[in-house]
Amino acid sequence: MRDHNTIIVWLREDLRLGDHPAFEAAVRAGGAVVPVFVWSPEEEGRWAAGGASRWWLHHSLARMEEALAGCGSRLVIRAGPVAETLQALCKETGARMVHCSRRYGPVGAAQETRVTETLHAAGVTLRRFWVLLYEAELIATGQGTPYQVFTPFWRRCLAQGEPRMPLPRVTRLPAPARWPAGVALASLGLMPKMAWAGGISRAWTPGEAGAQAALREFIREAKRVENYPADRDVPAVVGTSRLSPYLHFGEIGPHTVWHAVRGAAKTGGEAYLRQLGWREFAQHLLHHFPHTAERPLRADYGYFPWREDALGLRAWQRGQTGYPIIDAGMRQLWETGWMHNRVRMIVASFLVKDLLIAWQAGAAWFWDTLVDADLANNTMGWQWAGGCGADAAPYFRVFNPVLQGEKFDTQGDYVKRYVPELAHVPARWIHKPWLMPELELAAAGVILGKQYPAPIIGHTAARIRALEALTRMQKAARAQTK
Ligand SMILES: Cc1cc2nc3c(=O)[nH]c(=O)nc-3n(C[C@H](O)[C@H](O)[C@H](O)COP(=O)(O)OP(=O)(O)OC[C@H]3O[C@@H](n4cnc5c(N)ncnc54)[C@H](O)[C@@H]3O)c2cc1C
Repeated sequence: MRDHNTIIVWLREDLRLGDHPAFEAAVRAGGAVVPVFVWSPEEEGRWAAGGASRWWLHHSLARMEEALAGCGSRLVIRAGPVAETLQALCKETGARMVHCSRRYGPVGAAQETRVTETLHAAGVTLRRFWVLLYEAELIATGQGTPYQVFTPFWRRCLAQGEPRMPLPRVTRLPAPARWPAGVALASLGLMPKMAWAGGISRAWTPGEAGAQAALREFIREAKRVENYPADRDVPAVVGTSRLSPYLHFGEIGPHTVWHAVRGAAKTGGEAYLRQLGWREFAQHLLHHFPHTAERPLRADYGYFPWREDALGLRAWQRGQTGYPIIDAGMRQLWETGWMHNRVRMIVASFLVKDLLIAWQAGAAWFWDTLVDADLANNTMGWQWAGGCGADAAPYFRVFNPVLQGEKFDTQGDYVKRYVPELAHVPARWIHKPWLMPELELAAAGVILGKQYPAPIIGHTAARIRALEALTRMQKAARAQTK
């Protein structure tokens, strides 16, 4: 039976029932609500979900199916082009209104434009709901231009006042008289064909309940938020919230996190909320500069003489560079689908500066392996490392992987967890085993080049090469503008 009061809620990166403006408004409208998820990787192009994200999405959708059943509802899953699929569903149900949460960036925005036009032609309205604390397109400098530096951006956001309070959780969703058909979740083929996700499934519990548990632990049980300013840079301890995949898939909204931290933290809260600010900044940048997912924000970096180095890239991906802090980070990523922020910065710098491999290659690997792969955050993080983004680390500041390891993993506990070959190497040598006297190395059970590689490149020479490449780029860019 077709009912014009029915509203379709098109779910995207908002897989939750708590603080969900699109659901809340649909329930308030009083008619039936049909929750829909449309799988269309072709439309996402090269930014279709990578392997780790697909694993997460599968579990997240399964939790969403259960949660909706608890509200007397269902999740209708379909595969195909989004606009046409939603149009067909509107025809089948009689719905004249579709609600969705916004998605910034080239893919999400193009999708919204197409869906709006297609539905409009069929007499259906797409109503889009805000998703950020401070919406990316509403924040502007005094001249009306986008921000490119974080601190004034965040100051401007905070000047708007506190973000709104989270909405109450949806507990009942009126069902339509007849449900439109959907496909089974398993038919989307999101789960890996080979069993590589064991470590990831031990490390994570996708879904809204997992998100709430992570938030509870962060603010209440372990009091991690209070120690956040000191612990957030120490990869060997669990000092951060590990909410990134939940925030990316929208299993928890930023308003919920914001107010929970505000209400609970005596200390440490400001530092944490500032990180949520970086997330907002990344969305702001991707919204205003959508080309930056592929190309540098600073156009002169288009002339950078990157190297093709398949062996170097492979050694980096596999955690076999011979630099323990790099290898530990890359193995943490492979094993758990996540890497500590400080180590992300160090491994990214190593790829683009020591190996002179284009940041896009690193971004692509992260895209496939991170459970929190997020186009806005990943693009900003990689352009930061490559020196070519907004508010980026200057390219001439080259991280020394030994000193970075010694500074942030003083005792080598993080390295030893992910590089067990070095378990018996004393703290003094853990970040530079190739300098260790041979007898001591043998006593620790390591033969360089056998159990663990010698460094694939000398850092001092690599640094000089990186600076020369920067000079070449600057010359090439200047020649072009003459
Ligand atoms: C090269 C590189 C690539 C990155 N790729 C991603 C990515 O694909 N997805 C992703 O979510 N983050 C990415 N980050 C940012 C950051 O590393 C992660 O957000 C953070 O490590 C997630 O862990 P957490 O939830 O425990 O963070 P917490 O320290 O607990 O921070 C809370 C939340 O704030 C946000 N946040 C924290 N730091 C940043 C940051 N530097 N930039 C933007 N948002 C931030 C995240 O949403 C995070 O969940 C990248 C950073 C770098 C340097």
